Amino acid sequence: MTFATLGLAPEVQKAVAEQGYENPTAIQSQAIPVILTGQDVLGAAQTGTGKTAAFTLPILTKIIRHASTSVSPARHPIRVLILAPTRELVDQVYDNVATYSKYTGLRSHVVYGGVDIKAQIPALRNGVEVLVATPGRLLDHIQQKNINLSQVEILVLDEADRMLDMGFILDIREIFKLCTNRKQTLLFSATFAPEIVKLSNEFMNNPVKIEV
Ligand code: AMP
Repeated sequence: MTFATLGLAPEVQKAVAEQGYENPTAIQSQAIPVILTGQDVLGAAQTGTGKTAAFTLPILTKIIRHASTSVSPARHPIRVLILAPTRELVDQVYDNVATYSKYTGLRSHVVYGGVDIKAQIPALRNGVEVLVATPGRLLDHIQQKNINLSQVEILVLDEADRMLDMGFILDIREIFKLCTNRKQTLLFSATFAPEIVKLSNEFMNNPVKIEV
């Protein structure tokens, strides 16, 4: 399997090639084709397996191909929301998104707690198509009306088991409910613990299970 046969957009493949990756990892060759079809995915994969690229590359491909139908393109509504448990993980995912989206023209940004909330607002006002966030600070921004999730098409929960361990379950349930136009959900976790299965039964649509 090579990256060229996976169906990624040329803009995305160019960025991957620049990283010097020769072949997709196991999670990438399994998850990328499934995510491109639009199906929900429940993935069990540890950090270090290449899972961030496994979801980021097909997501970017999908949103380039399906240009936003927003009547106000200047606002660039959030079309992809990626949740992660900590600031460090949000930064790591964002670095991946920034690297792989560099030829796409898509805008990405981060929000996390522990820093001044006001300082995060101007970037959000400029328009963001891909937002990477921790759940608590995201909800603070929603309450302040700095962020609206009604145009989110793809929701990703990365390290979902850690988010549940950290007590984010109510926040996550609320975020699911606010993504009223969600078309696809991807959930990655180190294990399929019972709470993860419960969450997926409630909010996901017949997910394809991928374990590496
Ligand atoms: P992750 O599991 O997403 O934290 O990725 C672990 C590391 O693997 C990151 O430093 C990536 O840049 C790198 N990586 C991701 N995909 C590939 C690939 N196909 N070939 C080589 N390295 C990769």
